[in-house]
Amino acid sequence: MAGLEAELSALGELKENEAMSSHCSFRAGGPARYMLTVADTEKLEKALAVITENGLPWFLLGRGSNLLVSDSGFDGVVICLGESFRQIAVKGSSLTAGAAVLLSKAASEAAEAELGGLEFASGIPGSIGGAVAMNAGAYDGEIRDVLESATVLFPGKGIKELSNAEMDFSYRHSILKEQTGILLQARFSLHFDAKKAIIERMKTLQQKRREKQPLELPSAGSTFKRPEGAFAGKLITEAGCKGMREGGAVVSEKHAGFIVNDTGATAADIYRLTCRVQDAVFSESGIMLEREIILLGDFGTI
Ligand SMILES: Cc1cc2nc3c(=O)[nH]c(=O)nc-3n(C[C@H](O)[C@H](O)[C@H](O)COP(=O)(O)OP(=O)(O)OC[C@H]3O[C@@H](n4cnc5c(N)ncnc54)[C@H](O)[C@@H]3O)c2cc1C
Repeated sequence: MAGLEAELSALGELKENEAMSSHCSFRAGGPARYMLTVADTEKLEKALAVITENGLPWFLLGRGSNLLVSDSGFDGVVICLGESFRQIAVKGSSLTAGAAVLLSKAASEAAEAELGGLEFASGIPGSIGGAVAMNAGAYDGEIRDVLESATVLFPGKGIKELSNAEMDFSYRHSILKEQTGILLQARFSLHFDAKKAIIERMKTLQQKRREKQPLELPSAGSTFKRPEGAFAGKLITEAGCKGMREGGAVVSEKHAGFIVNDTGATAADIYRLTCRVQDAVFSESGIMLEREIILLGDFGTI
């Protein structure tokens, strides 16, 4: 592997056996065999070619705020996007942001430019890349409502500019979800509004989050997707799961839709708790909850 390490080190900052618990909002999970931060698209393309030639799997990491990595870690390369993916530009009512830009930063830059439309996203603790891949949404807004186009690298096939329609958005889903392509940057179509009104709306939504969500503890937000015609949190509460515990992981008393890590949970604790909640909700309501959080690594034997 010395050759691989030398090749990857030439393309970015390479770390070996990097604890993923430091990079995921759950604060749990084992090591990535390699973590590579690339500064620009050219290096990213070269790195993907090297990784593929060496037969290793890769995973594109945003802010790790919707991710559960197994305790045994990930036997491949976790790729992070660096410097040149953190640019924001505003032109007229369009805002273009690199994939590594924080959603909160994009929303506040939009407000500065008197552009509304990203208020819903200002409290979501992810990156533009993760938000577009997940079609993140909150308070009746979703990325698909504002995305005009996306610049996507399809490994080995080049870079394409995809329209909103080509992103195949649906609830918490896009064409990028299954590691098919890497978002490099996204262009959002926003609308002119008064800065004060935009900031007021962002503050109101953030206040709602603080009141309703257990933001003081590590989590990955809503653990499960909203089932058709129902609310996951309500179903979980009705199934008596509030306060249900596995090791250091617990179903939040404040918002049953969140599993939180309150006392040094392992990824196995969190995963097992998701399974117990699914079973309990299914027994009570006949509805099988689907995880919203992304699993990385091996959970097969848990
Ligand atoms: C307290 C809290 C509150 C939350 N509230 C919300 C909410 O209101 N609404 C909501 O939708 N989510 C919410 N989330 C979940 C999470 O913040 C979002 O899903 C967010 O968009 C994930 O972005 P990320 O950068 O952290 O992605 P990650 O967790 O790093 O990755 C998520 C997925 O996106 C992929 N990905 C990341 N970057 C790229 C890229 N450049 N190209 C292609 N794929 C990429 C990853 O490979 C992975 O499959 C919340 C999480 C927390 C902890």
